[in-house]
Amino acid sequence: MKRKTRLIHGGIPTDPQTGAVSFPIYQVSTYKQESVGNFKGYEYSRTGNPTRHALEELIKDLEGGYAGFAFGSGMAAMTAVMMMFNSGDHVILTDDVYGGSFRVMTKVLNRMGIDTTFVDTSNLDNIASEIRPNTKAIHLETPTNPLMKITDIAGVAKLAKEHGLLTIVDNTFSTPFWQNPIELGADIVLHSATKYLGGHSDVVAGLAVVNSEKLAEELHFVQNSTGGVLGPQDSWLLIRGIKTLGIRMEEMEGNTNAIVDFLVNHSGVKKVFYPGLEDHPNHSLAKKQARGFGGMISFDVGSGEKADELLSKLKYFTLAESLGAVESLISVPARMTHASIPAERRAELGITEGLVRISVGLEDVEDLIEDLKNALE
Ligand SMILES: *Cc1c(COP(=O)(O)O)cnc(C)c1O
Repeated sequence: MKRKTRLIHGGIPTDPQTGAVSFPIYQVSTYKQESVGNFKGYEYSRTGNPTRHALEELIKDLEGGYAGFAFGSGMAAMTAVMMMFNSGDHVILTDDVYGGSFRVMTKVLNRMGIDTTFVDTSNLDNIASEIRPNTKAIHLETPTNPLMKITDIAGVAKLAKEHGLLTIVDNTFSTPFWQNPIELGADIVLHSATKYLGGHSDVVAGLAVVNSEKLAEELHFVQNSTGGVLGPQDSWLLIRGIKTLGIRMEEMEGNTNAIVDFLVNHSGVKKVFYPGLEDHPNHSLAKKQARGFGGMISFDVGSGEKADELLSKLKYFTLAESLGAVESLISVPARMTHASIPAERRAELGITEGLVRISVGLEDVEDLIEDLKNALE
């Protein structure tokens, strides 16, 4: 099965009970048992729900894993994965990780005794030198947000295996349509499905895929015990969104290329961060491990004032957090998505006040470029 076919025919495409071609929303909490313990696969919807299960099977197929899990948000998915570790364990993470991921590790999970080190994982040597006897996992985000750094997933997975560690990859930016971390050796893939997978700015959700029966049992135990599950309505919305992921990602790639071309040639733009650019430091790696470069571009306009001026003039780029939807969005990471990272640390990472990030949508690209042109004048 090829990739766009799998988006539509993967998982459980039709309802086995009725033949319904759109998998039904099983809006139900509990299930009749014929006698005690004698039931048809479902007993209580925190433990399992048919609509959620159809989504979990779909993301499992798309990522090429052993089992999928759906949660109420990307952060709930990440937290559940981290709950597989114990107090005293240590996890290494990418330094310019999503702001909420930084926050949950350093302000919540640290209180449960999970220790973290943040390094620039785009350089493998940085990781090796941080591995300790209590290290249990390496958590990567690639491409990163908002600086678009790329980490060698296969290289990290190899290093991790040598030390008996798990490799966890947040695949939100690339989606399984462009990048398959499990095929590259990762053990767990995470998604904020709120972004490209949902794709229409109408659902908050998280997904996790694991590559073994052992991890599937452990993660299902945490999911069922802590209960951060996705409801049937939102599961259905995601199944529906995922069907068009392929054509959306392809169309966005074209729009993004045209916008990058425009930005690199504009005198008001100091620097453009995009892995598809040949002078991007990890361009060849990005090309090797993913089939597309994605629809996210960051660029520096020089100052916070210039960024505000740009925002005030744009017509089609909506000022909003989030990304990956049909409508183009723009944000200022230093004051929005990455505000939870201390200012000093942001400066170290290079997340300047003048850095703006756009998520390219599906509008006509001529309109998007015209909009940016007018606003940058
Ligand atoms: C948005 C995002 C998250 C968090 O997901 P939510 O669905 O907002 O909880 C995690 N990682 C990345 C890369 C994200 O963009």
